[in-house]
Amino acid sequence: MRLGLKVDVDTLDGLTKGVPALLDILAARGIRASFFLALGPDNSGRAVFRVFRQRGFLEKMLRSRAPAIYGWRTMLYGTLLPAPRISAAASEVLPRITAAGHEAGLHGFDHVRWHDRLLTMNREEVDEEIRQAQAAFVDMMGNPATSFAAPCWQATQTSRAALAEASMLYASDTRGTQPFFPRFGSWVSPLLEIPTTLPTLDELLGFNGCAVDDFFSLILARLATGRPQVFTLHAELEGGPFTEAFARFLDLCLAQDVAFFRLGDWAQELLQRPQDIPAAPVFQGRLPGRAGTVSHQGSPEVRS
Ligand SMILES: [Zn+2]
Repeated sequence: MRLGLKVDVDTLDGLTKGVPALLDILAARGIRASFFLALGPDNSGRAVFRVFRQRGFLEKMLRSRAPAIYGWRTMLYGTLLPAPRISAAASEVLPRITAAGHEAGLHGFDHVRWHDRLLTMNREEVDEEIRQAQAAFVDMMGNPATSFAAPCWQATQTSRAALAEASMLYASDTRGTQPFFPRFGSWVSPLLEIPTTLPTLDELLGFNGCAVDDFFSLILARLATGRPQVFTLHAELEGGPFTEAFARFLDLCLAQDVAFFRLGDWAQELLQRPQDIPAAPVFQGRLPGRAGTVSHQGSPEVRS
């Protein structure tokens, strides 16, 4: 059983509190993971206004008790309080991530803007989001990031074309079943996509009485399929109120000989034989427990 841990860091709180907690948990178990950081303004407060615009959002906020999890400050950033720059705090945390042997990549610049507006952004706007995120990364690390994970799994032909020209090794923008080259109409992106294959904690927590340990039992059961899996966790959740349950889950994985991998290492391995990687269409669809739509992998196709 092989499992890639993809850690999304969306907010300033997630970076300054969640990431250090996760680094401790992973170090204690000798596990290496892939972290993806949003490096622009923390506008999470704007997400509150999705209540009025997106079906399912209010229900999810109440079910997941988001205010208790994220805290009212985070929810007001970008609305009543000015949005703090996540990169201001990242200069201390980001080098710690890579020094511990983890991979660090980009999770967009303005997480909320990418989520809300990507589907209608033109190429210049997408380029600007990637450019600003990469500039902040280079500032701190001295070298560019080679991986990108789209905020809230939003990918378009425009974003994939921009990423393909941004010297990325791979991206992790979608929900799906296996690595592929994304196809939009007749255009196939030359940039490898490694999708998230498992549900996330915030999607299932509270659904039909699903408690946090039930959730992780379900994830563990899904690993038995034999195919490598990618699990997305959030610094704000698994590095916040759910750290103990997440640590128990990792211990159960290790007891069952689950091998953990970094997504970048898997990408290198896969790209040794690109002819074996299928293409697949990408479509927008709904997921249980998630407001709005996300980008999904369609059925894999053999490339000619
Ligand atoms: Zn995110």
